[in-house]
Amino acid sequence: ESFDAMGLQENLLRGIYAYGFEKPSAIQQRGIVPFCKGLDVIQQAQSGTGKTATFCSGILQQLDYGLVNCQALVLAPTRELAQQIEKVMRALGDFLGVKVHACVGGTSVREDQRILSSGVHVVVGTPGRVFDMLRRQSLRPDYIRIFVLDEADEMLSRGFKDQIYDIFQLLPPKIQVGVFSATMPPEALEITRKFMNKPVRILV
Ligand code: AMP
Repeated sequence: ESFDAMGLQENLLRGIYAYGFEKPSAIQQRGIVPFCKGLDVIQQAQSGTGKTATFCSGILQQLDYGLVNCQALVLAPTRELAQQIEKVMRALGDFLGVKVHACVGGTSVREDQRILSSGVHVVVGTPGRVFDMLRRQSLRPDYIRIFVLDEADEMLSRGFKDQIYDIFQLLPPKIQVGVFSATMPPEALEITRKFMNKPVRILV
């Protein structure tokens, strides 16, 4: 199996190869294509399996680059992870001209607002700051059609459940949801039941 066989846009493939990936990992082989089709996907996998590139590719393939509105929102449990995802998304989407911004705590709210108002395609962030940006209407949810929860179990164990639900409430009703989690505790299963529509489940 190869990245070439996945039906990805030429400029996304260029980004993937330029980043140094030659062959898809197991989770990428199974997860990228359903994600690109717009399906809700639960991927149960440890970190280190290549899950970041799975959802980044799935998002990058589906964005409308003619619009500079936020179309995808990724939540992660820590600032460092959100910033790491931002870097990977930007690198893989380099030839597509993707605009990505990480909204995380401990940084300037004004600066977040300035960047968001200048127009981005993808926001990656921690639940607290993302909710704050939505509440202030600095992040407009209207065009968001992909919602990813990375390390969902970790976010829940850090007490982000209410904020994740609050954020979900503000998003448009028909939205693609991807949940990535190493484990599936009851609260994570509850999220998949409440947020997802006939999810495909991939266990790596
Ligand atoms: P992740 O599980 O997303 O945190 O990725 C774990 C590590 O594997 C990261 O250092 C990635 O850069 C690397 N990686 C992910 N996918 C591939 C791939 N297809 N080929 C080579 N390395 C990869």
